[in-house]
Amino acid sequence: MHYLKQILHQAEQTFLREVITDYHLADDIYKICTQHGNDIFLVADENTAKLLNKDVFNKIPNLIIPGNSIASLETINLVRNKAKDSDLIVAFGSGTVNDICKYASYLEKKDYILFPTAASMNGYTSANASILVNGYKKSFKAHLPRAIYIDIDILTNAPLRLTLSGFADFICRSTVQADWLLSHLLLGTEYNELPFTLVRDLEQILLREYMALTKRSRKVVLLLMEVLLISGLGMVISKGSYSASQGEHMVAHAMEIVTRDHSSLHGEKIAVTTITMANLQEKILSIQNPIINPTTLDVKHITQCFDNIEFVRTFEQKQIMQQKIQEIICKEWTNISNLIKQNLLPAKYLQKIFEDLSIPHLPEHLSWNKEQYCKVVDLAFATRDRFTFLDLANCIEES
Ligand SMILES: [Zn+2]
Repeated sequence: MHYLKQILHQAEQTFLREVITDYHLADDIYKICTQHGNDIFLVADENTAKLLNKDVFNKIPNLIIPGNSIASLETINLVRNKAKDSDLIVAFGSGTVNDICKYASYLEKKDYILFPTAASMNGYTSANASILVNGYKKSFKAHLPRAIYIDIDILTNAPLRLTLSGFADFICRSTVQADWLLSHLLLGTEYNELPFTLVRDLEQILLREYMALTKRSRKVVLLLMEVLLISGLGMVISKGSYSASQGEHMVAHAMEIVTRDHSSLHGEKIAVTTITMANLQEKILSIQNPIINPTTLDVKHITQCFDNIEFVRTFEQKQIMQQKIQEIICKEWTNISNLIKQNLLPAKYLQKIFEDLSIPHLPEHLSWNKEQYCKVVDLAFATRDRFTFLDLANCIEES
């Protein structure tokens, strides 16, 4: 974790003080936790609890949540209540356990430390928690863990589906960067290259050696974890999720809203939506002499699909931008598209990697209805006040 340590060293302001990578850390969990607090509360799930010695549960008050749990407000309130007398919350698990502990400890103004059990997504080091409220996933401001302990054997032997999901959540870097840069070049919104520069070398290695993930190579799984942790810190650097979540995440979230299906893994949904975005971006960037047409979509389409007044407002605000965009695109398109193309991974290349790894990457792989999916892709731009290639999809064409 050489790169990560350098970043932590420079970023004094982050809450995260250390990342320890070693063998048998889970066996020493009690000793490690007592270095950070006197009254500890541990959260694991049914699957990750099996990785700990049973006597740990006698020594540390704990909550074991079901294996298929979602980070809901109910579970968070349960942890807050049960951990009332504790000064440290310990998360032993992957995405859901982390989100629960991150948000519960933040609300209770307590420290939390993390033992991640899979390289499954980049949220371990982000300052936000993704929580299910009334059937919808929402992002809430929270904090980073005080320390992260990566048990090498546990991480390497995590269920392969989780590891591959983490790979997809990272490799959408390509579509993310294209969207974020587009917004910057068209609307002058803030853009920061640093989160991408920090992962460039590691991404090159992963693109060469990704098949080793399926063989549970220690080296490559740890490399993936490192890149995911840096990607999370990239969001701290960008003061928002801009560097790790753009159009592909908007489509995935919009599909969650429409289907209310929270069963497939985050990274699997992102693999599907990344291929969609990569194809869309390529198609738009191949236009030589663009013209912008007024969109044929109206408020009715948004309401029918999402039934959310906030999305209608976002839609209306975005309509106002059209004039401005039209002028810049007419004048600057060749420059803009050349700049964006520099950092892109081709859609076909991404698809080949996902095929090689057997990662679901088409809507039908997740049993998503194709017609519904296409409709959501068309309308997802209205779900967030973030400008992406989704905003151009309906109005740009070759003149
Ligand atoms: Zn993600």
